[in-house]
Amino acid sequence: MKKNYNQSVLGVFASYIKPHWHAFAVDMGLSVLIAAVDLVFPILSRWSMRELLPQSLYRTFFTVMAIIFTAYILRAAAQYIVTVVGHRMGTMVEADMRRDVFTHMQELSYSFFDHNRTGVLLSRVTNDLFEIVELAHHGPENILTCTLTIVGALGILLFVNWKLSLVLIVLLPACVIFGLRQRIAMQNANREVKKMTGEINAAIESGISGIRTSKAFANEEAEDEKFDAANEAFKKSRVGFYRAMGRFNAGVEATVGIMQVAVISIGGFLIMRGEMNYVDLITFTLYVSTFTAPVRKLMQFMELYTQGMAGFDRFLELMRTEPEIRDAEDAQVLENAEGRITFDDVSFAYGDGTQVLDHVSAEIAPGETFALVGSSGSGKTTMCHLIPRFYDVTGGRILVDGKDIRTLTQESLRKNIGLIQQDVFLFAGTVMENIRYGRPDATDEEVIQAAKRARIHEEILKMPENYRTYVGERGVVLSGGQKQRISIARVFLKNPPILILDEATSALDSVTEAEIQKSLDQLSKGKTCIVIAHRLSTVRNADRIAVVEDMHIAEQGTRAELLAKGGAYAQLERAQGFT
Ligand code: ADP
Repeated sequence: MKKNYNQSVLGVFASYIKPHWHAFAVDMGLSVLIAAVDLVFPILSRWSMRELLPQSLYRTFFTVMAIIFTAYILRAAAQYIVTVVGHRMGTMVEADMRRDVFTHMQELSYSFFDHNRTGVLLSRVTNDLFEIVELAHHGPENILTCTLTIVGALGILLFVNWKLSLVLIVLLPACVIFGLRQRIAMQNANREVKKMTGEINAAIESGISGIRTSKAFANEEAEDEKFDAANEAFKKSRVGFYRAMGRFNAGVEATVGIMQVAVISIGGFLIMRGEMNYVDLITFTLYVSTFTAPVRKLMQFMELYTQGMAGFDRFLELMRTEPEIRDAEDAQVLENAEGRITFDDVSFAYGDGTQVLDHVSAEIAPGETFALVGSSGSGKTTMCHLIPRFYDVTGGRILVDGKDIRTLTQESLRKNIGLIQQDVFLFAGTVMENIRYGRPDATDEEVIQAAKRARIHEEILKMPENYRTYVGERGVVLSGGQKQRISIARVFLKNPPILILDEATSALDSVTEAEIQKSLDQLSKGKTCIVIAHRLSTVRNADRIAVVEDMHIAEQGTRAELLAKGGAYAQLERAQGFT
């Protein structure tokens, strides 16, 4: 069930903690136990020193000490469980959130990915979530234990000696404010380090991806210099951070020392005036060290909080982004389409306002091969992307078998369309898995059949582990032509009635192209087929050709008609050296 991300931040947080509330409760309960042991030790020591030592009650004294000893063992066990259970809960919450972000991103439309860079999205799913989850389990635990120890210790001290407590009450906020300021400086320095880490990563990434270009231009030295600059800046920011960290650590230690000295000075003064005894002074100094742990933790919490909340805001922003294209409530399932495609007065502009199509109309009959030609950037790909509803038209409508595609479910619409593009993406996996992507329930035999028809079977057999050969990143490197035929095999398996070939062969040499053209011809038999091609040789056999120009279809007809007309198409053929 999808969560409601429009509720308050705390509400969303709680909804993620809820399934793991057992772990959360254990975490909180044991944290209270730990705080309690810390609080009780000095007060029990005080009681022993006051009541038991003067009377030389050996047995009771050692019994009390044995109890405290056991309490510390228990505290250690509790600490262990809190660490394990807390972090395990954190990991589970993180996994849940990661699954939700991933699922959500899969639902988002093409336009979203036009505007968001992969690297940024990747860091949302990794770094951001980690920081959120650190906050989710350390946050409540820190607040609870710190409040308990600070308030508890102060209460006890007020009861022991209110005058000396006043010293602490005055000094403590001063220490906290000082510490916080140092911590903020440290956080700013850390932000700088993060920024520089981003820069250096970008420098490495662009350096490595561009290595072929820089070698070709013999520009390695210039690249080195660019990199050195980024590396230097990174080093500086790191040193800045360590300085801030040094100031913070030294400062906190110093404030603890100052508190101890102040307590002993004022305490000593009170003792000399007969207003206090030694035992209470010892109790006080013990509590001073009890204070420092929670104060440190609170400062750390502040940092967790700002980072975690920033991550959470970005998480919510992403989760609150609605897919631009959704199925209509009463969307119908398109089954076994005949394959008639109608552009009815279609206009389209991208989200950034780029107008691409202006009142375009065309009718493509079932089984017809319809070619789109025209200069690059004229809107051919865009026209093709409108048919599977990667984007919605901004005017007019597109019909498949006479039905407005907005009244159909996206899934059934896309099942009826096969798209082959110039860039083929292979998922990390085996060749078999990559072809099966066309129809996940296909048997091995069907996959092999499809590979044969796409004329890639023989080559697969020559690969190290034939169909089990690993491809994709870190796998066997396939040539452009091989990848292209794998994508054709996918579509053979899918066997949709509508086929879109978007410059499917333009990146290939002419021998490979001729080879692939044969498998494409076989694939397109009996299907409605829209072909975009740069080389006119590939569209000469099309039933009809349309020239896209200036946001319009300038002319359409059979090749013979267009040539007879002597218009835009005839000109294109002449430019490419035909006729
Ligand atoms: P063709 O396939 O004919 O080369 P396209 O359909 O790819 O042309 O592009 C048509 C116009 O739309 C171009 O001006 C291009 O810059 C613009 N365009 C393409 N994709 C996008 C996008 N995702 N966002 C904004 N503008 C785009």
